[in-house]
Parts: sequence; structure tokens; C-alpha cells
Amino acid sequence: MEKTKIIFATGNEGKMNEIREIMDDFLSKYNIELLSLKDADIHADIVEDGSTFEENAIIKATEIAKLTDCMVLADDSGLEIDYMNGGPGIYSARFLGEDTSYDIKNNYIIDRLSDAKDEERGARFVCVIACAFPDGSVITERGTVCGSISKKLMGENGFGFDPIFYVPEYGCTTAELTPEKKNEISHRGRALKGMMKKLDSYFVNKNDFRKE
Ligand code: IMP
Repeated sequence: MEKTKIIFATGNEGKMNEIREIMDDFLSKYNIELLSLKDADIHADIVEDGSTFEENAIIKATEIAKLTDCMVLADDSGLEIDYMNGGPGIYSARFLGEDTSYDIKNNYIIDRLSDAKDEERGARFVCVIACAFPDGSVITERGTVCGSISKKLMGENGFGFDPIFYVPEYGCTTAELTPEKKNEISHRGRALKGMMKKLDSYFVNKNDFRKE
């Protein structure tokens, strides 16, 4: 039986591996082949000029959906820091420049918070997944994980801001969690699980749950 193709609108192979791992059972259950933009041979320069994670995820998913007959998933994510008025937020990927190393970015944030009291160090990772359907409709799902900004870089796993994102429940940063544990509790893991639940009813019932 031919597999149903779904495109995940990212060119980031590291993110793609994380997503494939989280969605593994779902993909087998519905005989789905998940393709990255590279796998689908889609080249697009998308301007993410939305003012929320939702808007940016929708822009990515719908722009790619115009180029294919497949369902398209896309995500937008970032780190919100209370002491920085919610920044870098939707600008996380561009914060201090795309080519600046995360060692520099993370140390900059630690310096920015040098006068912050413990209760002022709150932060959260946010991820919004959008799913665009061939008929032009779109749904979203948001996942968050709450924590605080640590006083020094800790851990080698993960990427980006993981070495400074402290999760109190586990007493460590997300860079100190195993990839499996991070996927279980992460903003991306939570948003994807919520999205799979919605798509479950779409695939199981073979009806259009969006019109219910
Ligand atoms: P985008 O969602 O690909 O636009 O990237 C968002 C940016 O947010 C990344 O480049 C990282 O800086 C940051 N970010 C998002 N998720 C994570 C995570 O799980 N760990 C660390 N940093 C993250």
C-alpha cells in the first residue's frame, strides 16, 4: 500500500530527527512517510514576518502547502525570558545574529540577568505546530515547558539555549537531559503530541474533524 506523504517544513536535519523520533509510532500506525523540504525537493525562501509563534508557523505551513498536494506541518519555536520582557521570543533564531555562536548568546543572557533575583529568572520554551491541509485550511497546537535561566552554562546535549534552560522538576538544564527525556517533556514534544491527537481523529474517522 502506498504511504501517505506529509511534509514537515524544515531544512534543519537535527530538528527533523527529533520530530521523526517523537512521531515514530504515529507514522507507522497510519503508514505515513514524513518528508523534510530537502526530501520533497522543495526550495522556498519564506519570510517569517508574523508577530506570534502561531502566525509564523501558519505562514510556513501554508506557503509550502501552496507548492504541493500533501498535508504540510511546520513549527515555530523560541525562548521567552521574563526578565527580558518575553524576549527573545519569536526572534530567538535571529537573536544577536544568526551566525553568532550559542556560547556567546547564552553567556550574553547570563550577563543580562546578573542582577536578577531567583524569582525573576523565569523562562519558557514555546513551540507551535501548524498543519496545513490541501484544501487551504489550517490548525495549530502549542506546547510549552516552564523553567528558569541558570547562572552558568550546564550540559552538552540538545542545541541552542538548552545549556541555560533549567528545569526545576529535574534539577538540571535541558542540555543535561537525555534526548529521550527532553522529547518527553519538551515544548516541541508536547506540541507534536497535541497535534498527533488531533490528526488521530482525522485519520481514524476519515471525516473532516475541522468542520465539526
Ligand atoms: P525556529 O523554530 O527554527 O525558528 O528556531 C527557534 C530558535 O529558538 C532556535 O534557533 C533556538 O535558538 C531556539 N530554540 C527552539 N527550541 C529550542 C530547544 O529545544 N532548545 C534550545 N533552543 C531552542
